[in-house]
Amino acid sequence: MQYEGDIYRPPSEAHSLIVQATVGCSHNRCTFCSMYKAKQFRVRPTEDILADLTEASILYPGAERIFLADGDALILPTAEMLTVLSHIRTCFPACRRISAYASPRSIMLKTAEELTCLCAAGLDMVYLGLESGNDEVLRLVHKGVSAQEIISAGQRVKCAGIRLSVTAISGLGGKALWHGHAVDTGKAFTALKPDYIGLLTLMLEKGTPLFSDAAAGRFAVLSPDEAALETLVMLEHMDCEGSIFRSNHASNYISLRGTLNKDRSAMMEQLHSALAGHIDYKKEYLRML
Ligand code: SF4
Repeated sequence: MQYEGDIYRPPSEAHSLIVQATVGCSHNRCTFCSMYKAKQFRVRPTEDILADLTEASILYPGAERIFLADGDALILPTAEMLTVLSHIRTCFPACRRISAYASPRSIMLKTAEELTCLCAAGLDMVYLGLESGNDEVLRLVHKGVSAQEIISAGQRVKCAGIRLSVTAISGLGGKALWHGHAVDTGKAFTALKPDYIGLLTLMLEKGTPLFSDAAAGRFAVLSPDEAALETLVMLEHMDCEGSIFRSNHASNYISLRGTLNKDRSAMMEQLHSALAGHIDYKKEYLRML
């Protein structure tokens, strides 16, 4: 099998077979992200993807989950993606979940009918990065799309019957924009009502523009208390009945998990306890991406 460069996957794909459908990220400009900076984005030839799947089916014939990497696998033309999905169905009869990262642009390049076809062919879940629901934050981090564009893309995925997992980043607005980031991200999740919500906490990575901004005093990172307050405000603005909420990533100061809206009060109570000093925050040296 061919793997090019470092491979990234969502935490929930820890036990999945990972196959690169693309190399790198089609956008690759976000100021906080270092994941694919070393890679020149390209869609892999379909025959290479199929060859990897065939080889993997000999090594891992019982694979139940397959994650199509890298950063924007959904950008594959629909015909090619259908060929890949069909091959997975043939090679991995036990496979019960196929998922991929997708960018708002790659989703919007597909018609509603194409997305419905991909769902029918076995694409079960799409991971979408919202990062923030606040347009000023999105502009400053060079996300390249507005909150409404991300919301429209996510809604299109859901309408097609594909499950949607959406990630945002606590602290991405820094001290200057934390409140707008919290309110608008909560509202964006409300509009999206994803099946899964993942809230990471910002960690500055060396070599990224945001790291340089922070070093030069142009960006102020939230303290653990400020991040907890931000998450509280975000949750206050979230009305996502049935969404599974997870903020229990290695980057988070406090581990939160529950199903919205029924567990929202308990999670907010946890944050209040932390702010009152009754729960310890994760130590910095234990945090990681
Ligand atoms: S955050 Fe996502 S869209 Fe932005 S550069 Fe990183 S992988 Fe690409």
